[in-house]
Amino acid sequence: METEVLQVISPDGTINEAAVKKAASRLLNGEVVAIPTETVYGLAANAFDESAVAKIFSAKGRPQDNPLIVHIAAIDELAQLVTDVPESAKRLAKAFWPGPLTMILPRSDRVPAGVSAGLPTVAVRMPVHPAAAAVIRAAGVPLAAPSANLSGSPSPTNAAYVLADMRGRIPLILDGGACKVGVESTVVSLTGDVPRVLRPGGVTVEQLRGALGEVEVDDAVLHKLKDGAVAASPGMKYKHYAPRADITILRGTFEQFCDYVAGKDATVLCFQGEESHFPHAVTYGKAHDGASQAARLFDALRELDEHGAATVYARCPELDGMGLAVYNRLIRAAGFHLIDLDHTEK
Ligand code: AMP
Ligand code: MG
Repeated sequence: METEVLQVISPDGTINEAAVKKAASRLLNGEVVAIPTETVYGLAANAFDESAVAKIFSAKGRPQDNPLIVHIAAIDELAQLVTDVPESAKRLAKAFWPGPLTMILPRSDRVPAGVSAGLPTVAVRMPVHPAAAAVIRAAGVPLAAPSANLSGSPSPTNAAYVLADMRGRIPLILDGGACKVGVESTVVSLTGDVPRVLRPGGVTVEQLRGALGEVEVDDAVLHKLKDGAVAASPGMKYKHYAPRADITILRGTFEQFCDYVAGKDATVLCFQGEESHFPHAVTYGKAHDGASQAARLFDALRELDEHGAATVYARCPELDGMGLAVYNRLIRAAGFHLIDLDHTEK
């Protein structure tokens, strides 16, 4: 299959309507199209078309038990997808939609079971990216879309990375430039007594608490699931976001980090401005700035592979604000390998 790449944002910043139209007609024809969103690129299909949705799983090599997120362009499209819209969902939609927040709610019969990997719930998000919204509107149906990478590789934050993974597997990629947020959406479940964050992302836990009061953070956000445990968010159990390099996160000060890596034949994943201290370094954003780290993280992971890095030591992000989302992705990329330098013999 030929994979066409079309610019969806014109040089003057306006939406290329011809590209949007082409994407919409492919989608209504049961095909899969990669689209830009503010988080990462998505691999989209008509959420109401079960066989189109199945093509997403085969294009990605995605395990059948890992559910997709359904994307809408207006809040009133939510009601057809779920059997109940609780007060908490209304409040979150008002505060954070359109934006990088996904809500888990009870699934209606309109949504094929395959979208949710058979779960009784469905994940719904309203993206803010103008091209994503335009394609959903032009198609006139909600779009099921996971990240547009091959299963197991880092989520793509630009069209070139989508093409690297999806060439020959899908007919069309819309190129909307670099994704602003750079990590996937925050996933919050509203099906229990207390709202629960299953995956941290562009909307922070602090922001959710500001809107809702009590909000829990699922154990799987920070810790490895025990063998045999059931993941509330199935994506969390897979070895996600992983480059080929063997990554270890080093928690401690910059001096402790430098002491630890001195003399080791390794590449360093550090913050901007620190790279001159090391012979081989890739940077991922600024220290103490989770948003800038998120925007760079997946690109940095792909760059490590491009450089052929075998052993990598990474600086540890802070766990508040967007740092939590960065840590959640990085600890998985590192296979949960972290060394606390405060408790290490030199
Ligand atoms: P991706 O956008 O590729 O990161 O994939 C979507 C992620 O959303 C999945 O990996 C799941 O972890 C999460 N997700 C989607 N639907 C549900 C659901 N019904 N319940 C819990 N988590 C979900
Ligand atoms: Mg993904």
